[in-house]
Amino acid sequence: TNILEAQQLYFSYPDGTQALAGLSVTIEKGSKVAILGPNGTGKSTFLLHLIGILKPTKGDIFFEQKKLDYRRASLQALRSRVGFVFQDPDNQLFSASVWQEVSFGPMNLGWSKEKVIEQVNLALDLTGTAHLKERPIHALSYGQKKLIAIAGVLAMAPEVIILDEPTASLDPQYTNHILKLLEEINSGGTTVIMATHDVDLAYTWADTLVVMKDGRVLKKGQPVEVFLDD
Ligand code: ADP
Ligand code: ADP
Repeated sequence: TNILEAQQLYFSYPDGTQALAGLSVTIEKGSKVAILGPNGTGKSTFLLHLIGILKPTKGDIFFEQKKLDYRRASLQALRSRVGFVFQDPDNQLFSASVWQEVSFGPMNLGWSKEKVIEQVNLALDLTGTAHLKERPIHALSYGQKKLIAIAGVLAMAPEVIILDEPTASLDPQYTNHILKLLEEINSGGTTVIMATHDVDLAYTWADTLVVMKDGRVLKKGQPVEVFLDD
């Protein structure tokens, strides 16, 4: 079944740049999706539409077949179930310490203290960052910040996790760690959507490729199908 759907999205930035030009796509529940395309093709803009941070100039977003109406309550409900990891962790992390950062989301969901603690520990264990929990955010390396940004989202137990270029400017060790982690989360049933311009990564990691060009979807399918088509 479809968990997310975009129908004929058009979006222009205030300066007139058209970033999306009739983008339509469906995302199946439980899938591991790579949104592939060169820089500037609208990947980030599209992902920001999936959680309602950007509102299309024209077109609609559906979550579980229900059209997003952009009311505050609807956006809150959507974001409690769909997590987003920004490309630059400095745009995401704003707490003083790792523990505060990772517990912020689950606390906001109104869970009990026990449940929050359990979820934070789970997220820290999953990301292999338990040893960092007392650390101030500013003392973390770039790769560690990326992991904490992911942990903060995972702590909310989202059904879908969306990541914008999660491995960009990371060394191979961090890259592998994050890809394995996403694989594991996906095996647990979470839908994972990532934007990347890395063709090899997309091909080996994803079960579904969405190839974008000029603000539109060029092709969608299993990696083998999509590449054989070229
Ligand atoms: P990608 O993620 O594939 O690199 P983006 O969604 O970031 O692509 O960008 C799509 C297009 O929108 C590009 O032409 C980019 O320069 C433009 N763009 C992105 N952000 C802004 C912005 N805040 N204001 C104006 N234009 C923007
Ligand atoms: P380590 O955890 O081993 O000290 P880092 O996490 O600092 O390593 O760096 C991992 C990778 O991220 C390196 O390839 C580094 O060049 C890159 N990197 C570090 N800081 C930044 C930054 N602020 N922006 C983009 N890339 C960075």
